[in-house]
Amino acid sequence: MSGNQPATVTILGSGTSTGVPVIGCSCVVCRSPDSRLKRTRAALMLTLASGERLVIDTGPDFRQQMLRESVAQLEHVLYTHVHADHCHGFDDLRAFYFHQRRPVTCYVGRPHLEDFRTRFAYAFQETGYSGTKPQVVLQEFGEAPFTVLGLTVEPIFLEHGHTQTAAFRIGRFVYATDFKRIPPEVVERWRGQVDTMVASGIHFGAHPTHSNIPETLALFKKIQVNRGIITHLTHEVDPARDTARLPDGVVFAHDGMQVDVLL
Ligand SMILES: [Zn+2]
Ligand SMILES: [Zn+2]
Ligand SMILES: [Zn+2]
Repeated sequence: MSGNQPATVTILGSGTSTGVPVIGCSCVVCRSPDSRLKRTRAALMLTLASGERLVIDTGPDFRQQMLRESVAQLEHVLYTHVHADHCHGFDDLRAFYFHQRRPVTCYVGRPHLEDFRTRFAYAFQETGYSGTKPQVVLQEFGEAPFTVLGLTVEPIFLEHGHTQTAAFRIGRFVYATDFKRIPPEVVERWRGQVDTMVASGIHFGAHPTHSNIPETLALFKKIQVNRGIITHLTHEVDPARDTARLPDGVVFAHDGMQVDVLL
């Protein structure tokens, strides 16, 4: 069904692992009253024309993100990887079962499955009482495309320090966060095929395990994306000062940002 299905991308969180403001920091970004500089931990949501939703990652701010976006029903969550800033809001999936009485399917990459089961072991043990743990079904994925809500999701595992992260291409949309690089053959495959790409950028300086903003900008250019959105930002990025460093067609993400896409 991929091709021309309209959907809305919502940036649930645009922040790096600490969130912004950073606890105890008094820098100009952390002290700013500008709501666009309040960056919760990185996550994203796709809303289809049917109203059905797909969330990517449930970080520590997941509950606030669901409240802010008035999400009452959710049955599908994709995980990029199992670093704390991307999955430690998992327990708050509990609330959805209270309303919908159906479990949430959590799609977890093969390299992350064991770690996921270990971190959240309580959720997979029989307690006899469903209210104490999220009601979820774990669905493992490798690099083969799979279908969620009628959409074809193409995962690709990318280098991220000692681990890997899953990026997702869904039709002409890509979400790639927490990666160091994208292999040339993938760039080649995606070239000219991606309208909107949301990708992490951290900050302008060098980073050992993340693509920084200049590296992510180079990727957007190589893939020839029409619209690039840079997310997973630290408190070192101030859009009022730094937007001038971005080329046309590229913007910084902020929490609650919405863009329409064709999948
Ligand atoms: Zn992260
Ligand atoms: Zn700061
Ligand atoms: Zn990470």
